[in-house]
Amino acid sequence: MKYVVVIGDGMTDLPLKELDGKTPLQSAQTPNMDFIAKNGSSGLLKTVPEGMEPGSDVANLSIMGYNPKKYYTGRGPLEAASIGAELSDNDVGFRCNFITVDEGMLADFNAGHISTAEASQLIEALNKSFYRFGKFYLGTSYRHLFVLNNKDAASLNSTPPHDVVGEPIFEHLLKPEDHPFSIKLNELMQKSSDILTKHPVNKKRIDEGKKPANMIWLWGQGTKPQMPVFKDNYGLRGATITGVDLIKGIGTYLGLTNVHVPGATGYYDTDYCGKVTFALEALENHDLVFIHVEAPDEAGHAGDIQEKIMAIERIDLRILGKLLEELPSLGDFAIAILPDHPTPIDIRTHTSDPVPYAVYSPGCESDDTESYDEVAVEKSFKNSSKELMDGYQFLKFFIKYSSKKIQ
Ligand SMILES: [Zn+2]
Repeated sequence: MKYVVVIGDGMTDLPLKELDGKTPLQSAQTPNMDFIAKNGSSGLLKTVPEGMEPGSDVANLSIMGYNPKKYYTGRGPLEAASIGAELSDNDVGFRCNFITVDEGMLADFNAGHISTAEASQLIEALNKSFYRFGKFYLGTSYRHLFVLNNKDAASLNSTPPHDVVGEPIFEHLLKPEDHPFSIKLNELMQKSSDILTKHPVNKKRIDEGKKPANMIWLWGQGTKPQMPVFKDNYGLRGATITGVDLIKGIGTYLGLTNVHVPGATGYYDTDYCGKVTFALEALENHDLVFIHVEAPDEAGHAGDIQEKIMAIERIDLRILGKLLEELPSLGDFAIAILPDHPTPIDIRTHTSDPVPYAVYSPGCESDDTESYDEVAVEKSFKNSSKELMDGYQFLKFFIKYSSKKIQ
C-alpha cells in the first residue's frame, strides 16, 4: 500500500463578502479534491490542541501523527534540525529573525525579505562579536538560529515578531525581565543593533531603498525534542516533500527522508509538478509521502484572495490530479487532502479552528460528501456519528480506513 498526504498550508478560510459569502476553497475549481471527498471519507480534525498556539509547527506535527502536547518543545529546535545544527541535551535553540526597527518600533519582522547571501555576512559578523553568548547558524532569508548552551533559558517567555509589528520593541522583549537569561539575551538583542546598523550590507540596503536588517529577534526557543521514529511508530517508511525548513526539521526528528525538490520555494512560485514527480519517485522505496504546499498560507497572510484561490486550484490540478492519474500504476494506494490550520484572508493569521480532511482509497467506504470545502464537510460531519478527531490520531485513522475494503 502506498500513502500520500497532501497538506495545503493554511488552505481553509472563512466566508468572504468579496466571494459572495463563499470561502476561497468553495470558490476554487477543485474537481480532484471533490472526487476524494465524494468517493472517500471526510470529517473534522483538531490539529491545534487546547492552550497551544496555532503555529504550522504544532499543526503539522499533529498531522504527521505526533501529539504536540507530548512532543512539542518549540520552533527553534525543529528548525535547527532542518539546517543541520545538532543540539546537545543542554542546548536551547532559538529562532533568530532579522528584523527592521524604526524609532524603537518593530517595523518589519522579516527585514524586507533579506536575501540569504546578505544574511550570511550578517550572521558571520554576529558570531565574531558575540561568540561568548552562544552561536548563530545561517538558515534562509530572515530565518536563522541561535543556540545557547544552557537549558534553563528554555523556560523564558518569548514573542513571535510577526505578532507585534508596529509595536514598541521594549514591550515585547524576553520575560520575566529579571531572569538572568532574559537580562543576558535582551542585552544581546539590543547590542546586535549596533553591529548590524553599521554593517556594509545594511548601508547598501538603505542606499537601495530596502529595509535594513538592523536587529535580531530571538523567540520560539526550546530544547531538543525526543520523538519516537516514524518507522517504529507506524511501521511505514516515510518521506517529506516541502519547501519549508520547519517541516523538514520535523521530518529529521521523525527519521523521515526529506526529499529535495529543486523548484520547491515555499512560495506562490513553487514547482507543483516537480513536487509530484519527486513524490512518485520517493514512493518507489517509501510507503508514505507527505506533500506540503506553503502557498495558500502565504496568500492568507498577504490577504490575497486571488493568489489563495490560484494556489488551491494548482494543488488540485497539478498535485492531486496527477497523483490520482499515476498512483493506480503503483498498486494499492490511499490519498488524503487537508490543511494544517486555517489562515483566513480577513484575519491574515492562523486560527485554531478545526479543519476539514478528506481521504480516499479505491474500494473503501464512501460517505458521499458533496465536495471538499469547509461547508460541505461540516454538513456531512454533522449528519454523521463521527466525532471531532484530535489531529495526531488522523494518520492512524487514515491507515485503518484504507485497510478496510468493502467492495
Ligand atoms: Zn501552516
